[in-house]
Amino acid sequence: MVSGIRFESVSVAYGGQTVLDSLDLAVEPGEVMALLGPSGSGKTTALRAVAGFVRPASGRVLIGGRDVTRLPPHRRGVGMVVQQYALFPHMRVAENVAFGLRARKSVPKSGIPARVAEALEMTGMGGYAQRYPRELSGGQQQRVAIARALAIRPDVLLLDEPLSALDAQLRSGMLAELARLHRELPDVSLLYVTHDQVEALTLADRIAVMDRARLQDCGTPQELYRTPRTRFTASFVGNANLLPVTVGRGGVVLEGLALAVDTGPAAPGARATLCVRPHLLGLGDGPNALRGKVAEVQWRGSTHRLYVDVGGHRVKADVPELRQVPGPGTEVTLHFEPRDAVLLSAEVGDD
Ligand code: ADP
Repeated sequence: MVSGIRFESVSVAYGGQTVLDSLDLAVEPGEVMALLGPSGSGKTTALRAVAGFVRPASGRVLIGGRDVTRLPPHRRGVGMVVQQYALFPHMRVAENVAFGLRARKSVPKSGIPARVAEALEMTGMGGYAQRYPRELSGGQQQRVAIARALAIRPDVLLLDEPLSALDAQLRSGMLAELARLHRELPDVSLLYVTHDQVEALTLADRIAVMDRARLQDCGTPQELYRTPRTRFTASFVGNANLLPVTVGRGGVVLEGLALAVDTGPAAPGARATLCVRPHLLGLGDGPNALRGKVAEVQWRGSTHRLYVDVGGHRVKADVPELRQVPGPGTEVTLHFEPRDAVLLSAEVGDD
């Protein structure tokens, strides 16, 4: 079956405090949606509302068009993987993977071994069926946890920070593995909770950005990166310079300096925030020149990160590795193309 997930004004409260505030979000069938946001923003709560471990105070959760809000977890067709694997230590790998199937009784007993073998093959763990979890590395344990979630052939797969317990190198390998798995299961919708923007940008078809119990923004990785709608998205997805400006005609004014950018529907005279990505600032003269003094320079391998004080604002610029590094106090000019800046309606400090 091909199933999407739909949140309709889902709110969750703990002890009178709203931790998920009227979430409206649709994950299309077969889509990978990342829920991205800082710790405590409500991501796990949203996931648990889909799994059935949290009862919303109001709103509905639909899977494949069916209202599952009041269904118990095992009747939702949902597989879930959490950060800490949660394997049973006294059971072998095969028994761990079979556990959900046995509990559900959706597959006849005689069919279970084949299902377990299939799930272990998919996660590259075919040769480990008889091991105990303690005999596996962290990455292997997480593969088993994924196999266990897949064994029930879920319509939707929920992943809650599945890579957070792994070291950086293993993480990037597992990210590629998850992308491959999803290609093999194109009908399964994935909802992937993470606070790591690299994971979200790498894996997701779309990213839902959460902050303080609310959905802030939702779009493809490219949309959120190139044209964030909010200051929060701009600073949480990628790096950003956020500069307080006043809207003028055909551009904006930064501390008396006129800059040519697309102002869209913004009204002249309004206060706003100009977002420019550090790697889109060039060193030297050009359009939209910003003159300032170097405060600090960091070498980052193939690039240098310059911190430049421009009219009282510290501007970050990532430029290709420099032969001659300007020392602190040196006057430099940065510039950017009008099309490379995004104007955000809220003022710096507004939220
Ligand atoms: P995230 O996944 O974005 O880190 P969570 O959804 O886990 O955020 O938590 C959102 C908020 O809800 C946090 O403030 C957290 O402390 C609170 N919270 C989560 N679970 C419970 C619970 N079982 N009881 C009380 N408060 C909770």
